[in-house]
Amino acid sequence: MSDNLNHLGDYAALINNLSPQQINFLPLNFWGDAEKMPPVKYEQLGINIRKAIDLIDKKIEINVRYIPFCFMTGYEKYVVGTYQHIYDERDWNIIAYNVDRLPSGPLSIEDYFKRAHEKRITSYHKYKKCFDCKYFFICDGIEKQLKGIQETYPILGEKIIDVLSFRQ
Ligand code: SF4
Repeated sequence: MSDNLNHLGDYAALINNLSPQQINFLPLNFWGDAEKMPPVKYEQLGINIRKAIDLIDKKIEINVRYIPFCFMTGYEKYVVGTYQHIYDERDWNIIAYNVDRLPSGPLSIEDYFKRAHEKRITSYHKYKKCFDCKYFFICDGIEKQLKGIQETYPILGEKIIDVLSFRQ
């Protein structure tokens, strides 16, 4: 929400003092009470989050969850969408959603990808123009609630297919 957004610089100072191993930005989330908050535009989120990243000590791992790549130009390595999330060793994993539906026995990478795929198609939206974007495969798109409200900005080029291409 905008109140938080305006204080990201202060939070960066606090984060540096606490010096955690990792922090996660959760820019837009329509769960619970957050659903009633007026959404902040991704454009504004991208600007403020990138500024905050510049202020955060580089020894702290930074993840920015579920933000389209076109709002994080130059900061792509911090973007963690559904597919990048399944490789996050230090956070809970989206495979933990609906544990009752997990297959018995050891999980395969296909199981993880299946769960990421389910989350992407149920929670996010891409416009037709996104098909031309080089981030099409590795980007989740915008939150579904913002369909028709939020603009996106395709970046032309050869399509990237490795979801970890910026995270390696
Ligand atoms: S696929 Fe769409 S939402 Fe994602 S970076 Fe490209 S233009 Fe932005």
